[in-house]
Amino acid sequence: MHSDIPPQFSFYPETQRPEAIRIENLHKSFGKLEVLKGVSLTAREGDVVAIIGGSGSGKSTMLRCINFLENPTSGRIVIGGEVVALRPDGGPADRRQIEKLRQHLGMVFQQFNLWTHKTILENLIEVPVHVLGTPKAEAVARAEALLARVGLAEKAQTYPAFLSGGQQQRAAIARALAIEPRAMLFDEPTSALDPELVGEVLGVIRDLAAEGRTMILVTHEMKFAREVASHVIYLYNGVIEEEGPPEALFGAPKSDRLKQFLKSVS
Ligand code: ADP
Ligand code: MG
Repeated sequence: MHSDIPPQFSFYPETQRPEAIRIENLHKSFGKLEVLKGVSLTAREGDVVAIIGGSGSGKSTMLRCINFLENPTSGRIVIGGEVVALRPDGGPADRRQIEKLRQHLGMVFQQFNLWTHKTILENLIEVPVHVLGTPKAEAVARAEALLARVGLAEKAQTYPAFLSGGQQQRAAIARALAIEPRAMLFDEPTSALDPELVGEVLGVIRDLAAEGRTMILVTHEMKFAREVASHVIYLYNGVIEEEGPPEALFGAPKSDRLKQFLKSVS
């Protein structure tokens, strides 16, 4: 993967790296079901925060609240230092602010969510050209460079249906990068893939991490989380049960629930 490498922040003291994403005391309910019960996290630029936890623990909901695909019930979301004001009953006060903040967040879902009636190249330039106002020639040039980076230079004119799952997910990652986001959000990006296709997608994410990309990654690939994460959060029933550096969380878990969980997934 070639790179116009963003600065590596890791050699700066922790406190000198600017904050990319901060969540404070996030609560989210669906009707009477309280799914997130006061979750907080900070991702500084260059951080890779891995979120692990059992099915239904609230991982996806948390990620979706960060870019307001779900409206938080209460709490605070700060993206790049900008606080998103919530209405008293939850949800963003200002839709335009949300639209703007979303341009800083590249989201990759479990199901690749490419536009099926557009070519791969069209998928990559859609938002830059039609939402961000990037001149088309510039968007195309950047899209082609991104496709080359994820190993899909030959597939620009192809429709998603003709790609394997691994190729589609790599295209989805390139599409998320095409908006030049401040941070990437991944929600179990490999869990819909056949086992033999997982590696190629993890390889792309690993390269992004090595470049110093900020990301929040929900994953069930524990080995991968241990390898790439700077910080790991174990979510249990809508609460952070344990968090810390990967060596501590995976090597010396304290919580019995986490020990149990790690046993169940290994
Ligand atoms: P995870 O990603 O950790 O598996 P989710 O965040 O998807 O968990 O879901 C957490 C809980 O919230 C689950 O009980 C799920 O059924 C519930 N939930 C998620 N989305 C909705 C929704 N839109 N409406 C109602 N309940 C939801
Ligand atoms: Mg989920």
